[in-house]
Amino acid sequence: SKPSFVLRNPSVNKGTGFNNEEREKLGLKGLLPPKVETLQEQSDRALSQFTSFNTNLERYIFLNCLRDRNETLFYYLLSNNLELMMPIIYTPTVGEACQKFGNEFRFAQGMYFASRDKGNIRAMMDNWPADGVDIIVVSDGSRILGLGDLGTNGMGIPVGKLQLYVAGAGFHPTRTLPVIIDSGTNTKKYLEDKYYLGERHPRIPDSEYYPLVDEFLAAAYNKWPKVIVQFEDISNDHCFTLLDEYRNKYLCFNDDIQGTGSVILSGFINAVRSVQKPIKEHRMVFLGAGSAGIGVADCIMSLFDEAGISKEEARKSFWFVDSKGLITTTRGDELTSQKKQYAREDYTYQLKSLLEVVRDVKPTAIIGLSGIGGSFTQEIIEEMAKHVEKPIVFALSNPTTNAECTAEQAYQWTDGRCIFASGSPFKPVEYKGKTFVPGQGNNMYIFPGLGLAASVCEAKHVTDAMIITAAKTLASFVEDSEVLTGKIYPGLQHIREISTRIAVKVIEKAYEEGMAQLPRPACIETLVKSRQYIPNYENSNN
Ligand code: NAP
Ligand code: MN
Repeated sequence: SKPSFVLRNPSVNKGTGFNNEEREKLGLKGLLPPKVETLQEQSDRALSQFTSFNTNLERYIFLNCLRDRNETLFYYLLSNNLELMMPIIYTPTVGEACQKFGNEFRFAQGMYFASRDKGNIRAMMDNWPADGVDIIVVSDGSRILGLGDLGTNGMGIPVGKLQLYVAGAGFHPTRTLPVIIDSGTNTKKYLEDKYYLGERHPRIPDSEYYPLVDEFLAAAYNKWPKVIVQFEDISNDHCFTLLDEYRNKYLCFNDDIQGTGSVILSGFINAVRSVQKPIKEHRMVFLGAGSAGIGVADCIMSLFDEAGISKEEARKSFWFVDSKGLITTTRGDELTSQKKQYAREDYTYQLKSLLEVVRDVKPTAIIGLSGIGGSFTQEIIEEMAKHVEKPIVFALSNPTTNAECTAEQAYQWTDGRCIFASGSPFKPVEYKGKTFVPGQGNNMYIFPGLGLAASVCEAKHVTDAMIITAAKTLASFVEDSEVLTGKIYPGLQHIREISTRIAVKVIEKAYEEGMAQLPRPACIETLVKSRQYIPNYENSNN
């Protein structure tokens, strides 16, 4: 191939990593500085460049540009520095990168399908340059993290998620496809922003939206029949409908609902181990009844089921607070079917605020998935801590500024007694001479392994049992002795090992359920490992 092609193609480029023989063979002599470097040497330089920037947004741009030059180096660097770089390529920095997507745009990644493409989506997919696609992450940009409707600027999210699928589980980078379905935006600021890159119109009505998504999915499964599609950051008014419609038709899942459900279930399993109180004695107050809140509750319900408690009985352990207050059957508004399931039937009076609900319920666990930063006030957490020995405080909204409370606040306000987890990372907290390490209920623990499992065994669908298996497998990584100190998630540096074990267990479950279409292999673990991409130059094809 032409030298210009090799050096400009990020999936084969090694830059200074091309050895003399390769330089000769590929016609690269004179096109690179003389020194031949190892991947490690290149990575050391890149890390020092990464560190030298003043802002996280610059680091984000640096990493994405690096990926556009040398994919192997990017993934090598990312995989070896995941804890350092995850907050950059994913929450919280990716949120800022999305908000400034138009301003900071440098080169295109992924595919865009807009309403005007209706009828042509399948043909457009033939433009995608890669040989095959194993996984698609698709968003319509309507609810990016907790930041609202960002329209096409939301592309940073599918891009970032797929980078984590590669680093975390070993999907092959060239076989991943980030997608934005551009259905407009209702955010005036972007419609008026000269750098905004999406379609400049308000969101299209449902009568156009659903057929557009339907055409996209039909086209994707026609072109890549074994692909797994992950729905991401799609607003409340559409995400449940889409999941219900397609989860038994295609191989797909929604990470905000099911991935969040699974990872928080996992943390909750370990919190319950830590508190040493049986599930039926827990009273859970949820702030937020959106895709995440409902998804988490649905997953936690499985613990009641295993304890032999009926669904009807189990629901009495949940209290949901949304923007209108405690969700009850009597508060006089039309509830969505998801909210209806958890609506309290036993309230003749109305509780409007979270504080009132906490006073009334005396919860053992308070779970924030509202997107409202600071909504777990000192008064609320102290009130809760009066009545329980080890309060479970999950402040899960992203990014960091949206967290319902900080780790430090939670430990202080409960006098160091709480089991704390957040969505975005918090640093360890020193309190009264003790160090508390906050858990990060990051979907990253689950979706890579779950997605890999479904892809490798060619699952027909992603089932609830597979999602719960993933949660339990993750929970099992924390030992009893660690759980008692309040640790509920394993270290993210073990993500490959975690994803691999999750994939193995989920595939076993898929065979058990008759969901796996691939003939059963002799050893599932060997199969999984054989499919995992490892960033090094030996693997590349020149
Ligand atoms: P969503 O579907 O928009 O739901 C938000 C929910 O919060 C809605 O039920 C909304 O009430 C409620 N809410 C909004 N303002 C409120 C207020 N002032 N008081 C009480 N409730 C209020 O969003 P989502 O997908 O569920 O995500 C919510 C948050 O969870 C986001 O910040 C996201 O970053 C975070 N999240 C975290 C993780 C994780 O930690 N692993 C995973 C996914 C999502 P109405 O229903 O009345 O509008
Ligand atoms: Mn999300």
